[in-house]
Amino acid sequence: MFIDPHIHMSARTTDDYQAMAEAGVVAVIEPAFWLGQPRTSVDSYRDYLASLVGWERFRASQFGIKHYCAIGLNSKEANNEALAEAVMAVLPLFLAKEGVVAVGEIGFDEQTALEEKYLRLQLELAKQFELPVMVHTPHRDKIKGTLLTMDICEEHGLDPSQVIIDHNNETTVKQVLERGYWTAFTLYPQTKMGSERMVNIAKEYGAERIFIDSSADWGVSDPMSVPKTANLMLNSGISKEEVHKICYQNALEAYCQSGQIEESDWQDASFDQAELFEGNSVLRGQKPLKSSEA
Ligand SMILES: [Zn+2]
Repeated sequence: MFIDPHIHMSARTTDDYQAMAEAGVVAVIEPAFWLGQPRTSVDSYRDYLASLVGWERFRASQFGIKHYCAIGLNSKEANNEALAEAVMAVLPLFLAKEGVVAVGEIGFDEQTALEEKYLRLQLELAKQFELPVMVHTPHRDKIKGTLLTMDICEEHGLDPSQVIIDHNNETTVKQVLERGYWTAFTLYPQTKMGSERMVNIAKEYGAERIFIDSSADWGVSDPMSVPKTANLMLNSGISKEEVHKICYQNALEAYCQSGQIEESDWQDASFDQAELFEGNSVLRGQKPLKSSEA
């Protein structure tokens, strides 16, 4: 059993859900992010957030996968102050919805003053809603941005056990672990952080508070990277118990602090594709499958 605790399924096809379910992925967490181009209005943001708690949750269920999400204003769009202000006003409406396991993904992109402003405001929202925080760390100036994010979290009185620092690599892992944060790694298929490097990190640092995700989205990415890396870890001599922690248990423990995700959620993953969401099904004319015959 695997959890992919950071994946942008809205940008993926149903084939991915089928392949992930077959590979043993039982649950996914989809953080709100940007579209690849800037949104021009709060209304498109609102519809997107509504799809994360609505249609996408339903679509996953039709393939036997439990879908959760994180709600937040991403760092790129924090730089459009008029949009950011409007989005901040609608976030509370979504943070209280079923299946929302964190505020996220939030943090720094270019490390601007506006990014910092909305990071701080959203940390306060996380405290108010008693939700964990999923932090996106920047791809440029990663160490500086990661250290600054942890400083700011602590300034706002968040306990490191409430915060998941994501997109770590060899340069950040030690300090993030030492400061007590959940330390997540995104497996990118070609650059940044590959499965082989992850095996080495797991060998060096063990499995405490470490977990992995695919962050698969509309770019070159791999929704199967959690199960694939799990296999590589097992073949590299990492114990079953440690692989289970890194690819399932630790993410569950981090996000179950929201009160919105627990193991019993997927004990019954039965589905019936004849079901509808607001009058619509996932079908395109084919015969609906039931989990008993899938
Ligand atoms: Zn992401």
